[in-house]
Amino acid sequence: MSVLDNFCGTQAEWEVYWKQAIDRFMLKVELDGKTGCWIWKGCTIWDGYGHFRFLDKMIRAHRFSFLMYYKREPKQNLVIAHTCNNIVCVNPMHLVETTQSVNMQHSMLSGNKSSILTYKEVQDIKKSNKNVSPQDLSLKFGVSIKTINRILSGKRWHYISEDGEWQPQVLRQD
Ligand SMILES: [Zn+2]
Repeated sequence: MSVLDNFCGTQAEWEVYWKQAIDRFMLKVELDGKTGCWIWKGCTIWDGYGHFRFLDKMIRAHRFSFLMYYKREPKQNLVIAHTCNNIVCVNPMHLVETTQSVNMQHSMLSGNKSSILTYKEVQDIKKSNKNVSPQDLSLKFGVSIKTINRILSGKRWHYISEDGEWQPQVLRQD
């Protein structure tokens, strides 16, 4: 189901809403003259991605940008990747549709996204079988081997235990 299906109203009402959403979105964008990136200045959540309220839902800002430009959502099983490797960039010209695995390989090769993981991904890394090498985990999760080693040794995300449990009592500023 497309996020666009959440709109309830006439075509004319939709056109007004759509135009206002784009205005609201663009007000939160800053242009980087050097890279051409559109830097998202709206809210970002802890996974590092910008978020934007659209049709009563919070969606990733770069996803909205894709929708705004192409007037459709990415095809099924595809994700939107940044060709500029800047996850807060919402320039639709810097976004491509790709498969999850190509995106991760690209991120790893470019050395970017080196420490961006979701809580769930960190849990999965901590819980991973000890026979799985950091190299394999690095490939699987699209982060550097250094990041994997930091997670496994407890230098990063130490407030998630080896069993993947959330341990707020050890939460401190990294
Ligand atoms: Zn960019």
